[in-house]
Amino acid sequence: MKSTTDTPGAAVPLMTAWNVESQIHLIIGANSLAAARCAKSLEAGAQPVIIAPETVDVHFTLAEHIASEKVQWVRRDFQDDDLKTLGREEVDRVVDAVFVTLGATHPTSSHISSLCRRLRIPVNVTDAPDLCTFTLLSTYSDGPLHIGITTSGRGCKIASRLRREIAAFLPSNLGAAIDRLGAVRRRLWEEDHAAGRTDAALEGDDDDIIGQKHTFNTLVTEDDVAAAKTRRTRWLSQICEYWPLRKLVSITDADMDEILKAYSSGQSQDSETHITNGISKKGKIVLAGSGPGHPDLLTRATYNAIQNADIILADKLVPAPVLDLIPRRTEVHIARKFPGNADQAQEEFLQMGLAALRKGRQVLRLKQGDPYLYGRGAEEFEFFRGEGYIPIVLPGITSAMSASLFADIPATHRGVSDQVLVCTGTGRKGAAPQPPTYVPTQTVVFLMALHRLSALIESLTTSSAEEVPNSRALWPKETPCAIVERASCPDQRVVRSTLEHICQAFEAAGSRPPGLLVVGASCHVLHGANGQKWAIEEGFSGLDGLSGEVDAISVALNEAEK
Ligand code: SAH
Repeated sequence: MKSTTDTPGAAVPLMTAWNVESQIHLIIGANSLAAARCAKSLEAGAQPVIIAPETVDVHFTLAEHIASEKVQWVRRDFQDDDLKTLGREEVDRVVDAVFVTLGATHPTSSHISSLCRRLRIPVNVTDAPDLCTFTLLSTYSDGPLHIGITTSGRGCKIASRLRREIAAFLPSNLGAAIDRLGAVRRRLWEEDHAAGRTDAALEGDDDDIIGQKHTFNTLVTEDDVAAAKTRRTRWLSQICEYWPLRKLVSITDADMDEILKAYSSGQSQDSETHITNGISKKGKIVLAGSGPGHPDLLTRATYNAIQNADIILADKLVPAPVLDLIPRRTEVHIARKFPGNADQAQEEFLQMGLAALRKGRQVLRLKQGDPYLYGRGAEEFEFFRGEGYIPIVLPGITSAMSASLFADIPATHRGVSDQVLVCTGTGRKGAAPQPPTYVPTQTVVFLMALHRLSALIESLTTSSAEEVPNSRALWPKETPCAIVERASCPDQRVVRSTLEHICQAFEAAGSRPPGLLVVGASCHVLHGANGQKWAIEEGFSGLDGLSGEVDAISVALNEAEK
């Protein structure tokens, strides 16, 4: 697991996407590397100028560009003045960037590098990281999406392999989907703006927000007029955050219209509520938990239910790798449950499930974690039982227990914690629930709490004016606690702190839903206080080495050695 508090040494490069249209890029040299640099510059809309004496062998692609006048060739050695005379007039003829391809040991390379630094011209010298002010990335592009990778000069082969693997992992048409979602977002903002629903600028055009704001999942209640006005934009953000990429890329403009219309009018769009006559097979319903996130944490029973269902109604939080296990032929619906419309989404699903059951289909209601732990499982059980279909209920590994485990927090520990309390940070209709009293030997896990973290911490550590004084013990500010987000997913994050500093830490880190808060002395059993206000750990390695993959590789290596 990588901790972001203990990475001293090398500075992190500032990775940017440069608009270099019509800039002048000087390329010193005419070999194959120069040709590659030239191709990149041209692709980005810049105007490359090659500097190389007439006597050198010009790479054939460069020769083609020169012949077609896309690229200018200055047929001589580099001269210092080139940096200040070959550029665009509007920037006083200073060139915009310089690529030196002569090699690290060539004396001209270090000379040009220091001249450029003095003139603040970005310079790149092939194979000489010390002489560069910037390096190029191994890139993958799909429409408006561009992914860049650098290994900070440690191994370009790995960078290009990573690029290939990332590209293979991404669904095709992702670029087009990003275009489509971007257009919808702009349209919604324009409509909201024209109707006077918002006077805020269209935010978030930059891609550099590390995660969601810590308020991302704040509940929108009917009385919260301001938030309700821009509800559709918020729902769009939720779709982008939670839907599996595979589903996002296949979304059409018509789908988007339907989703957004459904909720702006408050009407369900379900068209399948009619009963078909002549049912020969009675429908069956399974209510199953899918665990905290990692597909290996599914039970075999739930896995079998996934394989055998005709139709799957999945909660928004059911993670993409679990949804990926669903056979392609199976009909899947993901709950349109966003902050502020939980009841409507729930009703829509119940009706869809019922309609399918009446058609004699096998329905799987797939829930995140465990279905009976803040999953409204029993409500659904009652509903379907009332309609004559008794559900089979399958447990799931709950995030309440597994998130703390994957953050190295034992829920109980001899001499430290002898009890566990699981509670919610959000009451019905967004009301604040009664905070638990301080029990020194208790581990408390708060689900659905991070969107109102500061109010929750405040209520744990101080008593309110309306309360009977001393009616409950308050939690000391130095009580250790941890926020665990996306437990068991590759982007799991743990923020360790104390009740005193956790809000500040979370605001600085931003939110990465879903996440929960663990409070109690048990947080310090395996990770003691380290003298800092907080520490952040990124990544999930809790199941590493358990899959067959590693073994398969070692077998292959052993075979090769024989
Ligand atoms: N039935 C689920 C809980 C549903 S309530 C279960 O048993 O896990 C939804 C809340 O669960 C979220 O707000 C969050 O607090 C928590 N949660 C769900 N998955 C999580 C995960 N992978 N990591 C951390 N918290 C998670």
